Amino acid sequence: MLGNIHSIETFGTVDGPGVRFVVFMQGCPMRCAYCHNPDTWKPGEGCKTSVAQIVDEFERNRAFYRNGGITVTGGEPLLQPQFVGELFAAMHEAPGGRVHTCLDSSGFGWLPGKPERFEKLLGECDLVLLDVKHAHADAHKRLTGCDLAPVLAFGGELARRNIPAVIRHVAVPGITDSEEECEALGRLIAPWRNVVGLEVLPYHTMGVEKYAELGIEYPLAETPAMNKARIPALRQSILRGMKAGRAQLAR
Ligand code: SF4
Repeated sequence: MLGNIHSIETFGTVDGPGVRFVVFMQGCPMRCAYCHNPDTWKPGEGCKTSVAQIVDEFERNRAFYRNGGITVTGGEPLLQPQFVGELFAAMHEAPGGRVHTCLDSSGFGWLPGKPERFEKLLGECDLVLLDVKHAHADAHKRLTGCDLAPVLAFGGELARRNIPAVIRHVAVPGITDSEEECEALGRLIAPWRNVVGLEVLPYHTMGVEKYAELGIEYPLAETPAMNKARIPALRQSILRGMKAGRAQLAR
């Protein structure tokens, strides 16, 4: 089976546990204002690559990934669920032994009406990094161009299947850095008992040059990088929201 791949990073240290072989899928339906990979957006671009090619490349450097594994990110991997499912299955059966699999997704692309398209992927996924971009539907739409509901539906499905998930939230000054919004996010994810981690990532401006190269206007040109010192407090706000949400559910 062939997938449409944007690129591969052979020494990833921020997308899942340990050192990871990271596959960036081509194509994304979202248009996050802070996206630093706009070159992954167009589904028609990228390089057709087989599952076997990726497994071979992984095996050549297997020793690096002893405490890590493979992560598939994007773009949006849920746009090519059958390929990612086949890839994860192959990694579990890899010649050198089972490899830990991780999906990094915005959740947008999950089609609740077509669960069969995702069955293999979800069955072969050891961990999901789920980005929830904004807790409020209207602001989520403004920030990403897409609805929040499918993201929450995907999160709910992961919880139903008890697939371990780390929730990620990018803190952007003036957009997603209020304690109120972070608490609201905590309440949204409170019912998901499969959540094993929470990462609040500070917005940075490192992707700006790519916009110039692609001739796209950068939507956050006036927004400074996030003050990292505020991240622990925002994380606490999310945890507070989760706690309050769970207390409410227990009543
Ligand atoms: S979901 Fe990821 S790749 Fe897609 S626009 Fe948002 S940040 Fe960029």
